[in-house]
Amino acid sequence: MNLHEYQGKEILSSFGVRIQRGIVAQNAQEAVAAAKQLTEETGTGWHVIKAQVHAGGRGKGGGVKLAKNLQEVETLAGQIIGMDLVTPQTSAEGKRVHQVLVAEDVYYPGDSETEEYYMSVLLNRGTGRNMIMYSTEGGMDIETVAEETPHLIFTEEVDPAVGLLPFQARKIAFNLGLSGSAFKEMTKFVMALYTAYVKSDSSLFEINPVLKTSDDKILAVDAKVTIDDNALYRHKDYVDLRDIREENPIEVEAKEVGLNYVDLDGNVGCMVNGAGLAMGTMDLIKQAGGDPANFLDVGGTADAARVEAAFKIILKDPAVKAILINIFGGIVRCDRVAQGVIDAYKNMGNIEVPIIVRLQGTNADVAKELIDNSGLDVLSATEFQEAADKVQEVLA
Ligand code: GDP
Ligand code: MN
Repeated sequence: MNLHEYQGKEILSSFGVRIQRGIVAQNAQEAVAAAKQLTEETGTGWHVIKAQVHAGGRGKGGGVKLAKNLQEVETLAGQIIGMDLVTPQTSAEGKRVHQVLVAEDVYYPGDSETEEYYMSVLLNRGTGRNMIMYSTEGGMDIETVAEETPHLIFTEEVDPAVGLLPFQARKIAFNLGLSGSAFKEMTKFVMALYTAYVKSDSSLFEINPVLKTSDDKILAVDAKVTIDDNALYRHKDYVDLRDIREENPIEVEAKEVGLNYVDLDGNVGCMVNGAGLAMGTMDLIKQAGGDPANFLDVGGTADAARVEAAFKIILKDPAVKAILINIFGGIVRCDRVAQGVIDAYKNMGNIEVPIIVRLQGTNADVAKELIDNSGLDVLSATEFQEAADKVQEVLA
């Protein structure tokens, strides 16, 4: 589950990570009230107005603006709320902004220069350990840093048996070129950040930039936080943080009916039982010259109702030109699934895309007979390759 910046920062703060303070606002009036409150609490005269959407690169797209007085807060918040923000990480249509974070300006002048760093916490799947990835090149696109100056990206792996050790946090602060009180602040920041990552059951923290202020405070200016969905049951208070306006509407609907669905760019809809078979099926479609329109695992109970629900979800994607149903009948019998497909097809009436069905496993022969004799425009296949060839045929 992805979070908005303001939500991510709240979680960080709850574990003692210092953040750029802010208040979320739904409209220009709320933004002004938020700015006033922040001035009272922090003494800040300037505020940053930050679009809250699930996409990075907001600054580049005009979604982060500095306001030097309350009039500017009102104007900028009014402009940003309601806009379709286009960033390097959104589609060309952009993302509609529903709310802004009004934050204290933390780039104020002082005794030293401000510095921006990059820091993320994530799982290294290669070693099975969490790691902290960090760089002196903060505020920029980390992909660009990785491409052009990979030697400026450091990683620190954490031994799960002992957790992050203080010497590791000091090493990070040292590699970032810090000394004095900024060094101490950074070690505290890193320790708190790692604790927050583990305790919140997150799968990604990306803080870009981590800021060293001109008076040597270290704080999170941005926060990209992804909570592990599978651990959400342990964090009842995080469940409400989901903002479905930010999610793919077809995926949201699929989730509601209990289907495991991921929207993709291609034109061949897939209905498969089991995640592994779904992956294999997507490879097969690629090999046949097609492109999967989705990943869809209908799970172990592929009865008529479920098959129909899956059909409906797949057909919501206008790009779908053919549907490949690839089901292995282990616990579920193939003839049941075949009947489900036939019933769903009849119920839905106007399915206009060709459907290729491959049913293998228990009662596969009965299933094939059912499909072949149904009188419907459904092509049946027994072998994997045969199914692929039929997909190719109908797409040609
Ligand atoms: P992103 O563009 O979506 O990654 O959003 P960020 O939260 O990282 O903000 C983008 C940029 O806005 C940062 O890299 C900063 O340069 C700038 N910014 C953020 N907060 C402040 C602030 O308090 N004052 C000033 N002057 N600039 C800020
Ligand atoms: Mn950022």
